[in-house]
Amino acid sequence: MPHPIFHFIVSAVIAAFLWPSIGWFALLAFAGGFLIDLDHFFVYIARGKGLDFIKAYYFFLNREEEWVDELFVFHNIELVFLATIIPLYFPFLLACSAAYIAHQIMDLINERFIERITPKQISITLFLLKGGSAKKQ
Ligand SMILES: [Zn+2]
Repeated sequence: MPHPIFHFIVSAVIAAFLWPSIGWFALLAFAGGFLIDLDHFFVYIARGKGLDFIKAYYFFLNREEEWVDELFVFHNIELVFLATIIPLYFPFLLACSAAYIAHQIMDLINERFIERITPKQISITLFLLKGGSAKKQ
């Protein structure tokens, strides 16, 4: 996972760029580009590691354990597809979608070229078809 500050900066740039055209809705860039990493905290809780947000933050930042098999509910190909389509019907969500797609691209670059890992659960549909378990691959 890239350091969250990079997601925050890119979200801020997208919000600033879109502010003149969509106004306050531009702040949704922070939801789509920054807050979506909260799903890491959900995985942390689901693993029974507790509710300490700071520990969870360092757990993923320092890769204390391998987590490539986990499903991160806000990081999947279906949401990328939705983020591409939704602004066509709801233009005020453009900042949220653009920041979301930028976030996914940053994560992809980080995973492929920096951390050199391959997350296995990139589709929530395939995950559910396999019975909702990362163990059944
Ligand atoms: Zn992410």
